Amino acid sequence: MTTAKHRILIIGGGTAGITVAARLLRKGHTDVAVIEPSDTHYYQAMWTLVGGGQARAAATARPECSVMPKGATWIRTSATTIDPDNNAVDCADGSRYEYDVLVVCPGIQLDWDRTEGLTDTLGRNGVSSNYSYELAPRTWEFIRNTRSGTAVFAMPSGPIKCAGAPQKIAYLACDHWRREGVLSNIDVHLVLPTPRTFGIPEIADSLDKVAADYGIHVHTHSEVTAVDGGARKVTVSSISDPGAVTTLPYDVMHIAPKQSAPDWIKASPLSTCDANGYVDVDKNTMQHVRYPNVFSLGDAGSTPNSKTGAAIRKQAPVVVDNIDAYLAGRPLPALYDGYASCPIVTSSRDMLLAEFDYTFQMKPTFPVLNPAKPHRAYWYLKRYGLPFMYWNLMLKGLA
Ligand SMILES: Cc1cc2nc3c(=O)[nH]c(=O)nc-3n(C[C@H](O)[C@H](O)[C@H](O)COP(=O)(O)OP(=O)(O)OC[C@H]3O[C@@H](n4cnc5c(N)ncnc54)[C@H](O)[C@@H]3O)c2cc1C
Repeated sequence: MTTAKHRILIIGGGTAGITVAARLLRKGHTDVAVIEPSDTHYYQAMWTLVGGGQARAAATARPECSVMPKGATWIRTSATTIDPDNNAVDCADGSRYEYDVLVVCPGIQLDWDRTEGLTDTLGRNGVSSNYSYELAPRTWEFIRNTRSGTAVFAMPSGPIKCAGAPQKIAYLACDHWRREGVLSNIDVHLVLPTPRTFGIPEIADSLDKVAADYGIHVHTHSEVTAVDGGARKVTVSSISDPGAVTTLPYDVMHIAPKQSAPDWIKASPLSTCDANGYVDVDKNTMQHVRYPNVFSLGDAGSTPNSKTGAAIRKQAPVVVDNIDAYLAGRPLPALYDGYASCPIVTSSRDMLLAEFDYTFQMKPTFPVLNPAKPHRAYWYLKRYGLPFMYWNLMLKGLA
């Protein structure tokens, strides 16, 4: 049953979907539809501050209807199958939508159950995660109530959204414990799958100093592979030496879940042929490599940038310009250079803003401030400037 056909159909009304829809409408497109099941839109970048006790969870959520651009058709269901050979999308309510151009941006899937024992203990036994709206306030509760013992902060292997988030919360927690005068009573461990705290040496040097100043034990090439909430201990496996395993006790733990493309995207003809299964697009034009009337951006796309809202801010205008060109039969003019930024809060007053592209060259927006050092001004940008920009400019297609 075909319910309708739209000139441009967007799957997902999150950061990417709303930004692209707003930009398309501003450019004069009149038939833009967004498939989005959720009644609520989240500004996820603030969940770190919620977990660190610096913002309220409610301030990160708004009704989806308040961000859906006027003029866009909101289809309130989930996409379940994409049939790109017939230019159609099937949905959970049995409807089928056809399109001239499809934009795929349903975000990333949180694979909580790929870490043994994690699902059973999430939100209990001192274990929380800022990767969930419901759990971020719980992170703060656990941190606030910890006065001594062992704290573990863990990042999983594989691509995740905002790869800085697993360590930002460690710094916010340590800053809180230091202000409370209890940091010296807490043994803090940061477990990272990467060789260093960051992929750019100057930023890693700076973060090493931050971690050392708090007395954090940084475990590189490692990840938490099992959690035993009842016994309050975690299994840490080496990435560089498969089979090497250690156990850490914990009193409080923050964990970022393993992540991957949504299963239904992995199973679709649009996915990459590798195990990741993201939507297989050209990393510069954002156009699908096999289906030219399909584009993808944001966390569900295969582009090898850091998966952040900041990246989407630069990808969205590229997608929109290239859709225009595709529909007009012109060569695609716009190229995305891999820009992403990672605002790393290092205390409740300071932040380091890492901005870079595919070549891992630093691309500071404010070159006057040394990008490899934490600054007070950036903290205000994170707490007040970026949320204002997100709700009032980016989601309206203005930034
Ligand atoms: C703790 C945390 C901290 C972060 N910090 C930062 C930061 O400091 N800076 C930064 O730039 N980024 C940060 N991010 C990352 C940023 O939030 C994401 O990269 C961004 O939201 C991705 O946008 P998206 O549109 O691809 O996915 P999302 O914003 O997740 O939106 C996906 C949308 O698709 C919908 N959807 C899902 N399945 C379907 C379906 N089957 N059919 C239709 N719709 C569907 C969902 O309901 C959702 O609305 C952070 C994220 C987290 C979790």
